[in-house]
Amino acid sequence: MKRHQSNKQRGSQQAAVERNYPVQLGQIVELEITGLNHEGQGVGRYNGYTLFVPKALPKEKVLAEVEHAKKSFGFARLLSVTEPSPVRLTPPCPVFDQCGGCSLQHMDYVAQLAHKQQIVRDNLARIGGFTVEGEDAVIVHPTLGMDEPWRYRNKAQVPIGMQGGKIVSGFYAEKSHDIIDIDSCLIQQDVNDSVVRVVKRLAGELGITAYNEGTHTGLLRHVVAKVGVKTGEVMVVLITTEETIPQKERLVESIRQELPAVTSIVQNVNERQTNVIFGDKTFTLWGNEVIYDYIGSVKFAISARSFYQVNPAQTEVLYNKTLEYAGLSGGETVIDAYCGIGTISLFLAQKAKHVYGVEIVPEAIADANRNAELNGMENVTFAVGAAEVVIPAWRKDGITADVIVVDPPRKGCDEVLLETILAMEPERVVYVSCNPSTLARDLKVLSGKYRVVEVQPVDMFPWTGHVESVALLEKGGTVGGSLYK
Ligand code: SAH
Repeated sequence: MKRHQSNKQRGSQQAAVERNYPVQLGQIVELEITGLNHEGQGVGRYNGYTLFVPKALPKEKVLAEVEHAKKSFGFARLLSVTEPSPVRLTPPCPVFDQCGGCSLQHMDYVAQLAHKQQIVRDNLARIGGFTVEGEDAVIVHPTLGMDEPWRYRNKAQVPIGMQGGKIVSGFYAEKSHDIIDIDSCLIQQDVNDSVVRVVKRLAGELGITAYNEGTHTGLLRHVVAKVGVKTGEVMVVLITTEETIPQKERLVESIRQELPAVTSIVQNVNERQTNVIFGDKTFTLWGNEVIYDYIGSVKFAISARSFYQVNPAQTEVLYNKTLEYAGLSGGETVIDAYCGIGTISLFLAQKAKHVYGVEIVPEAIADANRNAELNGMENVTFAVGAAEVVIPAWRKDGITADVIVVDPPRKGCDEVLLETILAMEPERVVYVSCNPSTLARDLKVLSGKYRVVEVQPVDMFPWTGHVESVALLEKGGTVGGSLYK
């Protein structure tokens, strides 16, 4: 494969030489891999200096070439594995090496689940200072995985391009605008693959041009396919540089004929020279403006732009655990911080007296209100704003909560929010987290008043390094998973 060296890399090379780092760019090192980081990269040490090696596994001996060096750590490319791990697999995807979407396809699935449990444990111990072994330890359960961990994604977002006079679709090759053409992605629902294949072929047949990022010419930029797995409804979104599509009616007609599951065909226009996929104008070309799906028995409307969890089967597992940890009997007031389109709020509202949800993106709250109405749920109130501003204001207004659920982005909860939770003293706090290190940091703050009873990792993204988990905290934390015994 062609190797590029960017200015940044050349800069880094010079810096490595000048600053006398323990490794030089291009140096080939023999390493023993001792861990896996949160991105699924192997971690090894060369004379005490940390090197991250994508596609290497713990306990392996490898040869790797240093590609990037910083003061305290660097990155190296795997050249060969001299002593393979017993859990190493041959990745089933033919483009595993180029894609980078699945960082752990070379690891046995059961081992991945154990690894994700261990990551949570390590973070709780290292960052949170919690005891994770022995009598008073915080319980970290084995990761809840999928029986069939393939073809789980309900959404595909695929760039379209042109190569050798042919329309291609897939993903961008590393550090380039070239698209690697694929017809199937093993973690996508089959129907999403079919949508992309059909649209690609029809575009070629109907003379619809593909967008070229380099020259900013051509029409079709991306195809987005979404499926409501429980309803079977499928949405096709065509993202184009302008409104006019040649032979639009024939295109719509052919998509309907070839893909009978499609219930919604939408166009979005993005004229800008940008990496952002969606533009501001969206029209329905045929069918409904939304597709529907269920998580448990709660119904959700999904539009072209709305955020929706991508692994619906595991979302249900995660939310059931959240509901169980919330311990609701019908009379509770619950706050759901970072509520998105209200998925957790509505799930909890089935069993609570009232749920207050707060979220910073106004469009998400519009979806949340629509979804509450769709389900005839009147015991929910949604507010737009930062959780760390809105929840203290609710407290001032005299709102109290029996349970507070938080589901923050990777950077974790704002300090002010954590202080507000400590001041509001709900009976239970349920912390849903997509980042074990900020989870551990925030639990440490909360452990002043709360006992961390248990943590349940749930595998939302098989074959990737992502670790999702949900933690239960109970008031009165002077024993068990508390720092302050
Ligand atoms: N609970 C939702 C979404 C969780 S993702 C679900 O399960 O689908 C985290 C959400 O937090 C995102 O929707 C993001 O827009 C929102 N967010 C980020 N910072 C925030 C803040 N300071 N206050 C409130 N919401 C915030």
